[in-house]
Amino acid sequence: MSSDTLSPDAATQGALPDRLARAITLGGPIPLSQFMAAANAHYYATRDPLGATGDFVTAPEISQMFGELIGLALADSWDRAGRPDAAYVELGPGRGTLAADALRAMAKAQAMPPAHFVETSPVLRAAQAARLPGATWHDDLATLPDDVALLVVANEFFDALPIAQLVKGGDGWHERLVACQDTLFLPIAGKRVPDEIIPPSLADAPAGAIIETAPAAVTLIRALARRLVAQGGVAIIVDYGYEGPAIGDTLQAVRGHAAANPFDAPGEQDLTAHVDFATLKAAAEAEGATTWGPVDQGDLLLALGIDARAASLARRAPDRGDELAAARQRLVAPDQMGRLFKAVAIAAPGWPVPAGFA
Ligand code: SAH
Repeated sequence: MSSDTLSPDAATQGALPDRLARAITLGGPIPLSQFMAAANAHYYATRDPLGATGDFVTAPEISQMFGELIGLALADSWDRAGRPDAAYVELGPGRGTLAADALRAMAKAQAMPPAHFVETSPVLRAAQAARLPGATWHDDLATLPDDVALLVVANEFFDALPIAQLVKGGDGWHERLVACQDTLFLPIAGKRVPDEIIPPSLADAPAGAIIETAPAAVTLIRALARRLVAQGGVAIIVDYGYEGPAIGDTLQAVRGHAAANPFDAPGEQDLTAHVDFATLKAAAEAEGATTWGPVDQGDLLLALGIDARAASLARRAPDRGDELAAARQRLVAPDQMGRLFKAVAIAAPGWPVPAGFA
């Protein structure tokens, strides 16, 4: 008979759902943010989730034009800032496709910064190394170079960071926890939180209403903004989201390109939440950085010249004309990714307004 359940570190052994179930049995329900952090860490550490055979497709995987145009926007900011020594930094670079396309386009504009990747997944680090063997990898922002300007990109990164939720009960707001019944995980209302922490505009929400906060994203943005202010540089952040504060439960799971129950199969499906751009901007501004946006991804790519880029690529490869037109449409059209995805820019004081954000 296994003595696993008796060992002191029982909650750290075995498959993730078993470990979470034991941790909850031993210590009680856990915060939603802890559940989401553990699920996504396991999910990304154990697979490449991108592409037609994976769970979801991202903009850089749709077309090289996405990374090229973002790279050109960074190179243009760098040029107008006086061409300081700089590093290219990407948060959660996936397969390295965006970085490869961006750095190739930047080199044509005489910008050849070394690549620094903030990435925790060993599987995706290996995929990135195959595309960009000369890059340097980091677990978080702390070890990034501190003596050069930073040209930063994050696409579909912030939506993967763990959120917390508050749920309104009959007597006020409660932290949302994750409990476990047998092998089923489910959200429950935990301890009551003080009314003072609820944004005044949401205080009168009806029972059952949910508010989200993103402590991990705020901590990361503050660290990023501090770097930009101290070292110079610009960050372009693309994701789907809203401008809060707002009521709403945006936690979702995707598996095999279809929606799934976020509390099923932790670690085996992608958990995301909509990004509150207003909160991210406020966090960056609190550190002294300047911010712009959100602008719709479609408007940004049109302003950066996606139509000219598509035409130029089609001239060189006429047989790819239809494919390029379809990719352009998918990235830009308001009923596809063009309006759902939005971009925010953050820069050091004195750095110019990035192209497409004016
Ligand atoms: N930017 C890529 C991939 C998006 S998927 C694209 O657009 O295709 C999210 C990426 O963020 C993955 O590379 C994942 O491993 C990474 N990631 C998720 N959580 C992270 C964390 N807490 N720290 C560092 N990287 C993380």
